Order: sequence, then C-alpha cells, then structure tokens
Amino acid sequence: MRLISIFSRDFRLLDNKLFEGYENNEIIPLFLFDEFNQIEHGENLKSLFFKTIENFEEELKKLNSYLYKIKLEDFGKFLDISKPDVVRVCYDSEPRTLQRIKFIENECLRRNIKLEKVYQFLIEPKFEKFNFVSFSQFYRTFKDEDFGKIIERPKFLITPKITFNEIQIPKINNNKIIKLYFKTEEEVLKHFKKFKEEKLENYSKFRDYPYLNWTSKLSIYFRMGLISYRYVINNVSDEAFRREIMWSEFFRLWLFYNQECVNLEYDKKWRNFKWDYDEEKFNAWKEGRTGYLIVDAGMKQLIEEGFIHNRVRMICASFLIKNLHIDWRLGERWFYRNLVDADLSSNLGNWQWVGGFGLDKAPYFRVFNPEIQRQKFDPNFEYIKTYIPNYQNYKYKPIVDFYESRKEFINKAKKIYEL
Ligand SMILES: Cc1cc2nc3c(=O)[nH]c(=O)nc-3n(C[C@H](O)[C@H](O)[C@H](O)COP(=O)(O)OP(=O)(O)OC[C@H]3O[C@@H](n4cnc5c(N)ncnc54)[C@H](O)[C@@H]3O)c2cc1C
Repeated sequence: MRLISIFSRDFRLLDNKLFEGYENNEIIPLFLFDEFNQIEHGENLKSLFFKTIENFEEELKKLNSYLYKIKLEDFGKFLDISKPDVVRVCYDSEPRTLQRIKFIENECLRRNIKLEKVYQFLIEPKFEKFNFVSFSQFYRTFKDEDFGKIIERPKFLITPKITFNEIQIPKINNNKIIKLYFKTEEEVLKHFKKFKEEKLENYSKFRDYPYLNWTSKLSIYFRMGLISYRYVINNVSDEAFRREIMWSEFFRLWLFYNQECVNLEYDKKWRNFKWDYDEEKFNAWKEGRTGYLIVDAGMKQLIEEGFIHNRVRMICASFLIKNLHIDWRLGERWFYRNLVDADLSSNLGNWQWVGGFGLDKAPYFRVFNPEIQRQKFDPNFEYIKTYIPNYQNYKYKPIVDFYESRKEFINKAKKIYEL
C-alpha cells in the first residue's frame, strides 16, 4: 500500500492521523502550495508557518522520510507519477479548505484512488445540522466527551523517492516574529508541560489580566499544528481551561455549518446595518492612535508581536464596532492579516460575538468601556507601559467621545430589532 498524506496545518509527529496506520505501508508526506493562502495570510503567520515547515522537514529526515512540496495545481500530475493507493487529507471548516478538498477529491476520483478525509480537531462535524443555540449548551453536551486515545509518534517511515518538479518553500525573514515564538514540536510540548505545572492551577484567577501573561499562548501552536487540541484537552482537567479550548471547537463547527458567515453576520437582522466608514479613524485604530490607552496598547501589541491578549482583543474589537461604528469585517481582516494565531473560525466567531450578531453573542448594548476595563484589568498600567512607555504624557487625544458614540450605536442597533 502506498499512502499520500497531505499536510496543511499539522506539522507534528505526536497525535497525527496523517501517520496513523503507516506501519508496513509506504507514506508520501505532501505539502500543497496554495497561492490563495499567500494572499489571504499575513506576513506574521506566514513567517512562523514556513519556519515550522522547515523544522518539520528536519524531523521527517530523522525518520528517513521527506516532505514533498508541490503547487496545488500540479497535484494531478503528482498522482500520475507517484501512483498512490490512498490519499489522506485533513479537513476543517474553512471554505477554502473545503474547496481545495473538493479539487483533491475530483483528481482522485478521476484516477480511481481512494480518498480518506480525517478530522484532527475534537468533534467531527457529522451531525445533520448545527442546532445549538448557545456555547453553554454546546459545552454541556460535549464536556465529558471521550476525544479518543492519543496516536503515538511514528518510529520509522518508508518514503519512496519520487522525481518531481518541486517548489521551494518561501522564506520570510520576519525575525522579530520568528524569535518570539517556538518553532518545534519538542519546544511546544515542553512549553505546555511548564504551563501546566506553573500556571494552570491559577488560570481562571489570572487569565484575564493582560500584564500577568498567564495564558498558554497555545493558540499559536494549534495554528501551526505543533500540538493537537486532543493532546491538550486529554491532558488537562482544569474546567476553565477546557472550556476555552471548547470555544474554539464551537466556532469551528459553527462555521462549518454556516459557511456564509465567512463574511455575513449570523443574525440575519444585522445584514443590512449601515456601517460608517472614516478612513482617518480606521487608521488610528489600526495604528494604535485612538487616544484610549488600552485599545492603543492592544493594537500596538498586534503590530509588534502578532498577538493580543484575549481581553484586550475584546476591548479593541468592541471599540471598532461600537464606538467607531466601522464595519466589523474590516477589523476582522486586520486582525486576521496580523495575528500569528489567525484562525478563520475563531476570529470570525469572536468578532461576531463581540458585535452582538453571532450565534453566541454579547448583547449589542454591552459596550466595553476602555477606561473601566483598564482600571480593572491593568490597574497599574503595566500592560500599557510595555507598548506605550510614555503613556503618562500621551500625545493622542480620544478620537471619539466614549459615551456619545456608545449611545449612537445603541440607538442605531435598537432599530434593527424594531423592524
Ligand atoms: C476579536 C477576537 C478575535 C480573535 N481571533 C482569534 C484568532 O484569530 N485565532 C485564535 O486562535 N483565537 C482568536 N481569538 C480567541 C482568543 O483571543 C485566543 O484564542 C487567545 O487569546 C489565545 O491565547 P492563549 O492561547 O494564550 O489562550 P488561553 O487562554 O491559554 O486559552 C487556551 C486555548 O483556548 C482557546 N480559546 C481561548 N479563548 C478563546 C476564544 N475566545 N475563542 C476561541 N478559542 C479560544 C484557544 O485555542 C487557546 O489557545 C479571538 C478573540 C477575539 C475577542
């Protein structure tokens, strides 16, 4: 038997269905270079992603294997030359992934090659409809679910030599970002162990304070596929932490069953809402010049680190939508292009949650007050200081009045529900 396993965001050896049952079979690890992602993804994500692939190639070499890298459009030709019996591919909920899989499926069908679609997350989307009305209901349903046994690392691999015109993985030398984060599976597993030993016990107590840096930062490594959700959830019992992991699964499944929400509000009432657009204000938000310290510090963290603490993400998103009244899609795209953990379903789900038009949502009239949030979650300006050292003589004045802009938004949004 000869198996082609297609790696797209699962660059690890431990708990990887792409290696499952490889024993006594030939396996051809393959990466399909999709130009769409070059445009869609930002430099931060790409720089870490390509570096991760480079390291993964080294790991495969140690097992006498090799990652073939070809253009997506050459996949058919690759099949003709490599002649596999089976092709295995991972799926998720992103429209582009599903489209790509359709293409892969057609190429396989044409050649009578079996295609196996595997799901590497937690709850395979096998129900007819996504009938959940809230995250809590979803969580209650699945919180005690057995997510299955962890798949062992392969000990050896048999990979045939195939002569093909491969591509070079681009190198994006955004060293600032590359240096900030881990790039190998080994480092990430160690990091997770350390997080468990040192921080998990007080996770629910401290997670909301951005200056404490108490969260796991695992979103980055889930995105690169350096660690699996299953491995993490099977190895933690802390309820608050497990709940957070389940949010990402909730949003993934929500998007799977609501593909139009990639650019439309889940709540149809909101689809005709008239957003304002003011380029100057939008630029001020992107560059961290709104005059609201916690918003500006968050947006600066995004530029500098490709990351923002979750609470601050909520505050920044709320400010764009509910105080600047700018189309949430523009904010969602800015986050997506800059986050190193950019994940389509989590990003969309959270933006829609904050806006008040998602499946699970904060009420539209709940508007985070940046100053009150700052007092509660960064009382000594420690987080702010990191990104705005001269915050005491801050040169930017508020670009909108918080209370006025809040009132205006609520009045406008109220009308939606009167229709
Ligand atoms: C406007 C907005 C946009 C966001 N965009 C993204 C995104 O593009 N990619 C992304 O991974 N997360 C996104 N999140 C969710 C959340 O902010 C990050 O997952 C979290 O900050 C990552 O840090 P951590 O791994 O240290 O989190 P921890 O607190 O350590 O949580 C552990 C894991 O739980 C999951 N998780 C935690 N909070 C959430 C949440 N609110 N929604 C979904 N999953 C969650 C993540 O997988 C995370 O790694 C967004 C949140 C907001 C408010």
